Amino acid sequence: MKIMVIGRGGREHSLIQKFAESEQATMIYAVPGNAGMAELAERVAIPETDQEELVRFAKEGDVDLTVVGPENPLLEGIVDAFQEAGLKVFGPNQQAALIEGSKHFAKQIMEQYEIPTASYQAFTEAEPAVAYIKEKGAPIVVKADGLAAGKGVVVAETEEQAIEAVEEMLDGQFGEASEEIVVEEFLQGKEFSLMAFVQGENVYPMIPARDHKRAFDGDQGPNTGGMGAYAPVPELEEGAYQTAVSSILEPAARALVKEGRSFTGILYAGLIESPKGPKVIEFNARFGDPETQVVMPLLENDLVQVILDVLEGKDPELTWSKEVCAGVVVASSGYPGGYEKGRPLPVLKAHDQAFTVHAGTEKDEEGYVSSGGRVLLAGAKDKNLARALDGVYDYLTCFEGFSDFFYRRDIGHSSISSTDT
Ligand code: AMP
Repeated sequence: MKIMVIGRGGREHSLIQKFAESEQATMIYAVPGNAGMAELAERVAIPETDQEELVRFAKEGDVDLTVVGPENPLLEGIVDAFQEAGLKVFGPNQQAALIEGSKHFAKQIMEQYEIPTASYQAFTEAEPAVAYIKEKGAPIVVKADGLAAGKGVVVAETEEQAIEAVEEMLDGQFGEASEEIVVEEFLQGKEFSLMAFVQGENVYPMIPARDHKRAFDGDQGPNTGGMGAYAPVPELEEGAYQTAVSSILEPAARALVKEGRSFTGILYAGLIESPKGPKVIEFNARFGDPETQVVMPLLENDLVQVILDVLEGKDPELTWSKEVCAGVVVASSGYPGGYEKGRPLPVLKAHDQAFTVHAGTEKDEEGYVSSGGRVLLAGAKDKNLARALDGVYDYLTCFEGFSDFFYRRDIGHSSISSTDT
């Protein structure tokens, strides 16, 4: 089979690494891909959102299966375009992807179908939003309705901060994406992410993962796309996991079917473990990044077959390794603010235990250079989290003295039990 993966980040490299293990994959295209992917796939220089060119390439190149990584093309209807052209594609259509594309829509679905989440109200005008904030008090959370590249959420510790966020967002901070905002209750608790393969009402959950969103150690600094992750989450109780599946993912899939927006693809729930059980922070309509990079290495089945089964409405086989997988992101100094591109990376030697997943890399005559904020993820699997992290951090010593890059030193630390040796 010829498989095309649309995207250029770590998530897509991880999917390509998994596809490359499949005997069914005879050719993999990375569109547009990154330098790391070039070892396993042929890169094709078409932007992720150029639907017409992507459809043309898939048709002329006899691509058998296309998998879409990022959210923007999904929300722009790339799946619909492929389906109209009679091409096999894995991902939600535009109507179903709205669960990620509009926070207000996602909230309405959760309210209507009694899916546990923070209480909220949506606004297009500042005055009633300010009144709501004053009534509820801080801490409180302000969110742009649409996609804002992960920057559209402000967890405000004071009413003033919340009001400032409301004013900035409604004033056009994120263009159309913040013409409407959601103001919601602040939820306290530890976060985890749960992804599932979904086909209509059928939900096939993966193992839970946890990512670290803040830039610096001790969960300090600004929010990023994610600085590290691990799976499964050692201290997450089986009961909380099962509740997340039965009271969140399954009802969400059923709700989308009832609303005429039947979902096929990956449904991702960002969750908080509240004292009353898991509650939804957000839904995404695609594989998470960096969660995918630590979940996929633990999948023991052929991912191509899993996706084909889901697309055909059959139950896929999902067997998970008993190991733990941890990943630490290496980012360009300055990220998530301004940073320089084109900086040389150290030589990435093979390591006994660790693997690399590229995100923002290109190659010149000398070797790999950076081309984005998040540059790569170093990951490792082992019998427990502490040992997996030892492998990752041992590998990352190759970045010592490379001041163009940084990474967090405390990924997974809050989950390591003293008995892990
Ligand atoms: P999101 O982009 O929706 O994942 O939000 C980014 C981060 O903001 C989340 O990972 C949480 O840490 C935080 N957050 C979002 N919504 C809430 C909430 N209702 N209560 C507490 N924290 C939240």
